[in-house]
Amino acid sequence: MKLEELGEFGFIDRLAGQVKARPGVMLGIGDDAAILAPTASKVTLATSDMLVEGIHFDLALTDPFTLGRKSLAVNLSDLAAMGAQPRHALLSLAIPPALPVEFLDEFTRGFLALADEFQVALVGGDTCASRGGLVISVTALGEQCPDLVVRRSTACAGDLVLVTGSLGDSALGLEFLRQDIRSGRAVERHLDPLPRVAAGLRLAEACLATAMIDVSDGLLADLGHILDLSGVGARLDLARLPLSEECRHHVSVDRKDPFALPLAGGEDYELLFTALPEREALVRSELADCGVPVTVIGEITADRGLSLTDPAGNPYHPERQGYNHFGTIRNTGPQPAS
Ligand code: ADP
Ligand code: MG
Repeated sequence: MKLEELGEFGFIDRLAGQVKARPGVMLGIGDDAAILAPTASKVTLATSDMLVEGIHFDLALTDPFTLGRKSLAVNLSDLAAMGAQPRHALLSLAIPPALPVEFLDEFTRGFLALADEFQVALVGGDTCASRGGLVISVTALGEQCPDLVVRRSTACAGDLVLVTGSLGDSALGLEFLRQDIRSGRAVERHLDPLPRVAAGLRLAEACLATAMIDVSDGLLADLGHILDLSGVGARLDLARLPLSEECRHHVSVDRKDPFALPLAGGEDYELLFTALPEREALVRSELADCGVPVTVIGEITADRGLSLTDPAGNPYHPERQGYNHFGTIRNTGPQPAS
């Protein structure tokens, strides 16, 4: 079927028919606005991310189901980074009229599959035609007690710098996709990232993270945001970076800027956070409970600036710093979505 035959309202009806009822949603898709009941004593956290064809994704490299999942996942990652429980989402689409309805069906199936995994309700959005490529804009709403929300601006000198999971796999996956290697763990990490929602909630609710951000632009760029907003610096020990086997291999063969992938690759969607050194054991046990690996990669310093030490103990000067949409920093791939 063609989108012309289905029409805007046909598409919305089809979508609404697949959305499950969820607590807190007094009125979902269908009226001018959704009505949401807040949980007592919690604040709402709101975040939005846009994914633009040709900038953030390439329809030749992804499938619509996985693209639907990723467009919600990148938003849930932002909520995770504040320690929030995701609750609701809005999905806005600018659709090229030639896009097959089957593509949209698969896209929404993927979006709603991830929403189900995290008990997120799709409560509205907007649909219009695009004269250019496909544009996807997702807004996600989450909740947390005001005192438990974790910001970027609250890291202190002496805190440890920690990161969940491993770094660099997503950027490596994108390199593989461009070489027409379409499967494997790195490719999966790039196309279908899983937001660290449970880990973010644990760290916030146990008051373990002093500051937190998700790694979307690359470790250096995202750590830079914590440092700037907190008015501190950091020392990182590159020997401690958590790397998968595949990424470690890449690091050992790229002689020019060996740590470019884990430092500046981006789209890892891991949590980068700071914590008091005396709470390291507790951090480890809480995250082990959620099945999430965590690694100490450095520490926060009172002196501003970031110093990197390579595995031989020498200062390391990276060539790439991370993504910046309008900046002069050298980019090599599609930009991250958040
Ligand atoms: P209005 O013209 O008043 O903005 P719309 O006709 O755009 O309303 O939307 C009708 C209903 O469908 C609204 O509840 C809106 O939130 C929902 N909706 C529209 N597009 C989407 C979409 N892509 N995903 C989810 N809900 C949507
Ligand atoms: Mg509208």
